[in-house]
Amino acid sequence: MKASLAAAAFEVASFAASLLAEPWEVRTGGGTPFKVFTPFWRALASRAPMPAPLPAPKRLKTLVGIASENLGAWNLRPAKPDWAGGLRAAWTPGERPAAKRLAAFLDGAVRAYGEARNIPAIDATSRLSPYLHWGEISPRQIWSSAEAAAIAHPEAASSVSAFLRELGWRDFAHHLLFHWPEIATENWKSEFDAFPWADNDAAFRHWTRGETGYPIVDAGMRELWTTGFMHNRVRMIAASFLVKHLLIDWRRGAAWFEDTLVDADLAVNRTSWQWVAGSGADAAPYFRIFNPVLQGEKFDPEGAYVRAHLPELAALDAHYIHKPWAAPPEALAKAGVVLGGNYPQPMIDHAKARARALAAYAEIRQSG
Ligand SMILES: Cc1cc2nc3c(=O)[nH]c(=O)nc-3n(C[C@H](O)[C@H](O)[C@H](O)COP(=O)(O)OP(=O)(O)OC[C@H]3O[C@@H](n4cnc5c(N)ncnc54)[C@H](O)[C@@H]3O)c2cc1C
Repeated sequence: MKASLAAAAFEVASFAASLLAEPWEVRTGGGTPFKVFTPFWRALASRAPMPAPLPAPKRLKTLVGIASENLGAWNLRPAKPDWAGGLRAAWTPGERPAAKRLAAFLDGAVRAYGEARNIPAIDATSRLSPYLHWGEISPRQIWSSAEAAAIAHPEAASSVSAFLRELGWRDFAHHLLFHWPEIATENWKSEFDAFPWADNDAAFRHWTRGETGYPIVDAGMRELWTTGFMHNRVRMIAASFLVKHLLIDWRRGAAWFEDTLVDADLAVNRTSWQWVAGSGADAAPYFRIFNPVLQGEKFDPEGAYVRAHLPELAALDAHYIHKPWAAPPEALAKAGVVLGGNYPQPMIDHAKARARALAAYAEIRQSG
């Protein structure tokens, strides 16, 4: 855009604010872009000092004499039906709410971030991702406030570093997309081009609706549908279930997330899906297949997250909350759970799904 405007004799200036560093500014010793996160992060974090945020301009020079539309008249908000109640309850958009959220996070939750960030039932992360995506806060503002918080509270310094490292993943995703735009649509590892994806619309629909029969997956998909958000740990579990248990192409899952997430971001979403699928840059290996029951028991031991999003399971004993099919009939009856009635049976047995996924992977390894 800059080049074509300049060619048309416009004066062009741009001001970097949406990333910690522009994608072409961070380079390996050999001058090439990074493909692996850890050295990228080392290079990014050592570009000290991070430029401080600039104060807001006192006055903006605006163009005069240009007719404008009335935004309200565009009727952008859903009315008939109004499906956005859950979004409104969960979020207050805007620059000021973003700043307030950052201040509250740095004043409290950040101290436990290192350990608690993987527990979806607690409000342990910043929830700044939609504000970042929509430009309501800049990563440089976050960086400078977080550094100040670490200086004021040295006991929180390691948690603050863990938090800033996550922000580094966001920059890394944009770095990858800038240098390899095809990462949004093509398998980064081309051996996955031969992967035998299942074209199963019914299974895909069950996943989108949170009807897989695995409570941690279903709770995540319902949180997403209602609030436009899903906790990072649960995103990984739910995405892995689609790609590995149901063998459905990661691009279908990514597109659903883009339809429903309030923080849907091409760079982060697509690289994260490839990471989960095993097809991406610096990805989790395909053969590491999450067991949704064990993941649930580890990160939601009392089932508080599941109960919050699946009211039909709310009264189930914690011992069975991540595997209702293993509960004795009396426990189900006491909790009002009817398997195959108000909550589904698991779509597929975990051990079978695991074996099937590994066999599919072996196929592409052999042909590759
Ligand atoms: C399959 C999948 C899809 C995802 N899609 C998106 C997406 O569309 N948009 C998006 O912003 N994030 C996405 N993420 C990353 C992550 O889940 C969210 O950024 C995070 O949950 C946002 O919550 P938070 O703001 O409380 O994060 P915090 O833990 O407070 O982290 C602070 C900031 O760091 C960045 N960040 C955190 N985790 C990651 C990560 N794993 N990768 C890249 N950046 C990260 C975000 O900008 C976040 O706001 C996805 C993850 C997975 C596994």
